[in-house]
Amino acid sequence: MINISRQLLLISLLILVNISWAQKKTYLDGKYKKETSENVYTTTNQHIVVPIAAVADPNVEVKNIILMIGDGMGISHVFAAMSANKDQLYLQYAKYIGFQKTKSKNSYKTDSAAAGTALACGKKTNNGALGVDENDKPLTSILTIASENNKATGLVGACKITHATPAAFVAHVHSRGQYEDIAEFFITNSLDLFIGGGLDDFNKREDNQSLIPDLEDVGFKVVYSIEEMDNIHTGKVAGLYTGGHIDKYPERGEFLPRSTNKALEILSQDTDGFFLMVEASQIDWGGHDNSVGYVVEEMLDFDRAIGEALKFAEKDGHTLVIITSDHETGGMSVHEANLEKGEVEGRFTTGSHSSLMVPVFAYGPGAEAFIGIYENTEVFEKMLAAYKFEK
Ligand SMILES: [Zn+2]
Repeated sequence: MINISRQLLLISLLILVNISWAQKKTYLDGKYKKETSENVYTTTNQHIVVPIAAVADPNVEVKNIILMIGDGMGISHVFAAMSANKDQLYLQYAKYIGFQKTKSKNSYKTDSAAAGTALACGKKTNNGALGVDENDKPLTSILTIASENNKATGLVGACKITHATPAAFVAHVHSRGQYEDIAEFFITNSLDLFIGGGLDDFNKREDNQSLIPDLEDVGFKVVYSIEEMDNIHTGKVAGLYTGGHIDKYPERGEFLPRSTNKALEILSQDTDGFFLMVEASQIDWGGHDNSVGYVVEEMLDFDRAIGEALKFAEKDGHTLVIITSDHETGGMSVHEANLEKGEVEGRFTTGSHSSLMVPVFAYGPGAEAFIGIYENTEVFEKMLAAYKFEK
């Protein structure tokens, strides 16, 4: 009897803890009704994966790098998506696979700002810091170095473009929350293209200034919708489609693959080559939300963008594609799946980031350098080496 009532007490305590956690959830708002329980999800948004051939000559010069970051993407996120997509993903054609360790300067468990800085600039910094070291000294990103070497550069993010991961490639601020300060770096940096949300950080600012004329002064055509962007085929362009974050999938439609394609169309016109970073931002938010559905839909959308990048690289032959993550979110695991139905059962061990190593998948010339286990800062070093840039 005592044991039973003790168990009852424990169960009701657990329920209470769960309820209070549910109230803290900010990302999903119960959108994914298709989840038959908290943990089982059946997708109807599968895609057909067209095989991608390996590049003919892996030893040619690397002209272009496409760095694709699945924010919060661990192995379980990849595998849940693969299972939901009938056991296949475009990702599987990036056959050089490694792992990177994500700890930051001051924490075993990184945040997106420190991890983004490590990937972009090759230095560990404190959580929260963007494009600066632990003493707030500005660091130089691979994007800036690519630009100094006459390459075209671009950023695409399914979030505010001023959010931590894309911002790590252009901004230098003590804290990732300085969105309006971060926006100013999009003018002063040598970017050629950026697409995402975050318009409010440019034109609804506390200083009452609009940065749109400044963007235009440095040569940007600023467009405000994906349809408007369809008409742009060349030149410097800024796509700021919403005041805050880009919607989650499927509400945002084919934003990520279409924007990836558009970026490739425009940047590839530079005969010196290009650097493009594409972030699938909301895999992380699905992980924070402990929602298998949110994770799966964001991962599948990311994979369709990866498909666009790989098709470009397959045809081009001089393009290195790197697909990785900044950290794992949710401590996710995958338990069961129905590969025919696209049904996946997963669980989470935390509402926060975990400290797990994250995968790196590479395709194209120079891809073999990405196998093995290494620190996240080495992704930057390996990109520099692939481009044959001086340090
Ligand atoms: Zn992150």
